[in-house]
Amino acid sequence: RAKEAGGASYQFFNPAMNGAVQERVLLTAALKRAIAGERLTLAYQPQVGVADGLLHGMEALARWQDETFGVVSPAKFIGLAEEFGLIEDLGRWALREVCRQLAQWRAEGLEVPKISVNLSPVNFRSGSLTAYIEELLQEFALRGDSLTLELTESTMVALTPEMMGNIHALRALEVGLSVDDFGTGFSSLANLINLPVTELKVDRSFIRKCLEESRHQSLVATVIGMGRNLGLTVVAEGVEREDQRRWLARQGCPVIQGYLFSRPLTPQDATAWLAAGGPFQPASVH
Ligand code: C2E
Ligand code: MG
Ligand code: MG
Ligand code: MG
Repeated sequence: RAKEAGGASYQFFNPAMNGAVQERVLLTAALKRAIAGERLTLAYQPQVGVADGLLHGMEALARWQDETFGVVSPAKFIGLAEEFGLIEDLGRWALREVCRQLAQWRAEGLEVPKISVNLSPVNFRSGSLTAYIEELLQEFALRGDSLTLELTESTMVALTPEMMGNIHALRALEVGLSVDDFGTGFSSLANLINLPVTELKVDRSFIRKCLEESRHQSLVATVIGMGRNLGLTVVAEGVEREDQRRWLARQGCPVIQGYLFSRPLTPQDATAWLAAGGPFQPASVH
């Protein structure tokens, strides 16, 4: 960079920049150790059926608390992992941990229909993804439909042959495929009908304003209708209020996820939540 800028090597001694670069280097090194030492954790957020109030599944969300850096947000460490070649290992770790946790909950008699795992484009491009998941399903005696993989629209626009191979092979195993943050990316509707996706997650930014802005309301209603017409499960993300839940229910949105039901929970809290039988209805509903 300094060379590109005309050999201005003094840039390296810019204290602010030096500090930021150094922090990224140290953070990345710490992340690498955390992944290798399996010191990341997963938080689980319930997804609830609107019509029946039953548990639809859980979404697993990666968490990292470092001794030096404290709690680092996924927005930050997932980006670092993608940039510095750590995301393959992180994705594998998350998949394995989710399968282990699901098998454990079921062994304890706790009913969890499925768990969703977020994967990055790099994970979908990996030539060994399908074989790895197939091994996990066998090891933990799980059916493919116990697992849903969430992909973002950025994954859908850069389809490679490996990715298509994985996606079709995983669907053949009945693993679910969900489009995360739907509506915020750059994928086309053609991508949506050409890929065997099973679920759409309406992005939180649309849900947040769905009762305040008529254009958001129309958009969310349209996505719910489109999902239904395509035979896809629609999950509304980031539902925080009872009036939003009621409106989404009237629109026929099948599944809701958000703080209204629960924040993402530590495995321990999620186990307690499941053992207590929910609450699968928001507190304000009687
Ligand atoms: P996402 O997959 O769209 O996850 C939903 C995010 O919304 C989560 O943020 C969740 O904590 C938050 N959320 C859920 N309900 C509500 C609500 O009612 N209100 C508000 N304000 N927020 C809510 P989080 O955990 O910080 O994760 C951020 C993103 O990081 C995720 O977005 C996902 O794209 C990525 N991510 C998380 N874990 C992983 C992972 O294991 N692998 C990969 N590749 N990405 C991950
Ligand atoms: Mg997600
Ligand atoms: Mg999302
Ligand atoms: Mg999101």
